[in-house]
Amino acid sequence: MQGLLNEWRRTHYTKNVNVDLKDEEIIIMGWVHEIRDLGGIIFVLIRDREGMVQVTVPAKHVAPEVLEAIRKLRKESVVAIRGIVQEAGKAPNGVEILPEEVEILNPANQPLPMDPTEKVRAEIDTRLDSRFIDIRKASVSSIFKIKSQLLHTVRDFFYENGFIEINTPKLVASATEGGTELFPITYFEREAFLGQSPQLYKQIMMSSGMDKVFEIAQIFRAEEHDTLRHLNEAISIDMEASFMDDKDVMKILNNMITQVLIDTKEKCNNELTILEHDITIPDGPFPVVNYDDAVDIINSKGVEMEWGDDLSRAAEKALGDTMDGFYFLTEWPSEIKPFYVMPNKEDPTKSHAFDLMYKDLEISSGATRIHQYDLLVEKITEKGLNPDAFGSYLKAFEYGMPPHAGWGVGADRLTMVLTGSNNIRETVLFPRDRHRLTP
Ligand code: ATP
Ligand code: MG
Repeated sequence: MQGLLNEWRRTHYTKNVNVDLKDEEIIIMGWVHEIRDLGGIIFVLIRDREGMVQVTVPAKHVAPEVLEAIRKLRKESVVAIRGIVQEAGKAPNGVEILPEEVEILNPANQPLPMDPTEKVRAEIDTRLDSRFIDIRKASVSSIFKIKSQLLHTVRDFFYENGFIEINTPKLVASATEGGTELFPITYFEREAFLGQSPQLYKQIMMSSGMDKVFEIAQIFRAEEHDTLRHLNEAISIDMEASFMDDKDVMKILNNMITQVLIDTKEKCNNELTILEHDITIPDGPFPVVNYDDAVDIINSKGVEMEWGDDLSRAAEKALGDTMDGFYFLTEWPSEIKPFYVMPNKEDPTKSHAFDLMYKDLEISSGATRIHQYDLLVEKITEKGLNPDAFGSYLKAFEYGMPPHAGWGVGADRLTMVLTGSNNIRETVLFPRDRHRLTP
């Protein structure tokens, strides 16, 4: 009875145990999801990453040590079970397993800190406190399977389109955009910060001649907000490309998002069913609204907004009411965009910056960047920042910087769209917000 795990290996995930395996001996490993002891017969549901299977134990027809082990089982204990597959109309997958050997690999303490079944809806905080159990629920693990597919598709997309994957430092000496949204850290004798965006590094990479680069990595923002769409640590999908402008990189973004939607719908059909969420693939390019028209739409919805204002939450909602699905918001005022954004030549109050929105949710910001040293210094100064603080960045603009453009997509926010989640905390394994630093 000893050493089942050492002697043998799992032969099947539960979802692959079906009638084709009738009368075959298999080994499954997983968690005890449910035990129903009817005296003469005991039903045990075993769960693994892929699903559940029923183990049926007729008390009189199994070996005494099997019965003894089954009677000792507790909810969420980890077990290995060797048994014979039998047809069973009412059980999941139409099969059950008649156990020949049962080994408790690790018992779970009782009571459990939270219910791992879908029956009880716990508060998000309770769930996050015991996230490892929360993720045992199919409705939760489905979100992370979809997020995994999203990142897979994105990487494939970039490689297929000639991009080079890069890694830039997250320990940085100065502000990206000069904002107050930085986490200061002690770096030996100096103060340093956690990177809020790879922006300056991916631009420096344009001067390196790498031409088209992308990075998928953490960004850190010390914003004090407590919203359903902000976290203090998020995953950003960033790209930058030389000899391209805003229009070019918008097209790349549109194609990437469309590919993500197609792949999610196709390859995560199971997960979407569990989440009761459907994905519509837009036919054709995403609609484009310029900032001027957006201001009109927002005002017409009764939300007051002046030209030059950033979009308030109410403004985003008003716009999202009119614009369903994904759309680009273009020609932003230069004033409310970062210093590295290229102003419009004819009307410098406007810029070549764009956002990609999904209804009222900002998914991405991008722009043609300034590649001229003098203009960049002027803009940095205009924003009230000190060009000296940007020395190592500015240097890259003095010795052959090509024109370039790029964008950053919030992977967690995009996952919200793909999974129909209305709280970003649902789409991050261990979210970091103002109040949460563990687990
Ligand atoms: P918002 O206006 O919604 O706060 P932002 O304009 O400050 O976002 P950007 O600096 O443009 O954000 O970052 C690019 C993308 O990264 C955003 O469009 C968003 O998808 C994502 N992102 C930015 N900040 C956060 C955050 N705090 N939490 C989660 N995702 C974020
Ligand atoms: Mg933005």
